[in-house]
Amino acid sequence: MPLLSLKSVSFAYDDTPIISAVSLDIAASEAVAVMGPSGSGKSTLCRIIAGLQAPDEGNCELDGSPINGVQRGVFLGFQDYDAFPWYTVRENVSLAMTGGDPTKLADSSIGDILAAVGLGDSADKFPRELSGGMRKRLALARCLATKARLIILDEPFASLDSRSRRDLQMITRKMVEDGGRSLLLCTHDPYEAAFLSDRVIVCSGRPLSVQECIEVKRTQGASVTESQLLTERAAHDINQALIGAPGTAENQVSY
Ligand code: ADP
Ligand code: MG
Repeated sequence: MPLLSLKSVSFAYDDTPIISAVSLDIAASEAVAVMGPSGSGKSTLCRIIAGLQAPDEGNCELDGSPINGVQRGVFLGFQDYDAFPWYTVRENVSLAMTGGDPTKLADSSIGDILAAVGLGDSADKFPRELSGGMRKRLALARCLATKARLIILDEPFASLDSRSRRDLQMITRKMVEDGGRSLLLCTHDPYEAAFLSDRVIVCSGRPLSVQECIEVKRTQGASVTESQLLTERAAHDINQALIGAPGTAENQVSY
């Protein structure tokens, strides 16, 4: 049984169809990217999966149970940086880990998580004291801390400089490889989609509907160069699919 199962999910704002009959399964430990034009409904789909918005039609199930309202098993990262301004960095991560009183938890693994995202020296700072890039690191730390089995990253690294983006992509990939967690990633970057996911769903917009599904090949024990080549090939295929999908011309990213 898949961890997440969407069957013919449709949604409209008033009379404007936003999502049209989207079906999508995500298995345990699988990473899936969703790509489509800006304004096509990807974030709305994420909110439906996170239980923040009910679909008009179709079924959404997590672990075989209907998604009715916010789920403990789903963590929506990177929503407006996703940090509580009145808690410190450490407390924000602690809150993601337990959902309990973040000022009472002294878990050593929080220090490890902060070190992994490069915020080891900022544990006692408040979010307002962090740069934009550091806030994204905090958002990723909260994803690493959560016990949720499905993590949704909605355009997580947009607007970061290329080195920080690469850095956070590496941490995200390790999170998926290590953690037995599933990932749903929305991104406009074919290389990022190919690097971070096992499968890429290319959608057309207005309303959002699935056009094509591209499997990203990985070879066990491949060298870094071989892996990079496979990722670049997949990114090329994804780019071609984006060019072919109706209404996605503005989506093309050269790499
Ligand atoms: P994406 O994440 O793919 O850029 P969104 O899911 O944010 O797209 O938005 C999909 C469409 O829904 C957009 O055209 C947007 O203008 C519209 N939309 C988003 N929120 C609302 C709302 N609260 N009321 C009406 N329309 C909305
Ligand atoms: Mg969006």
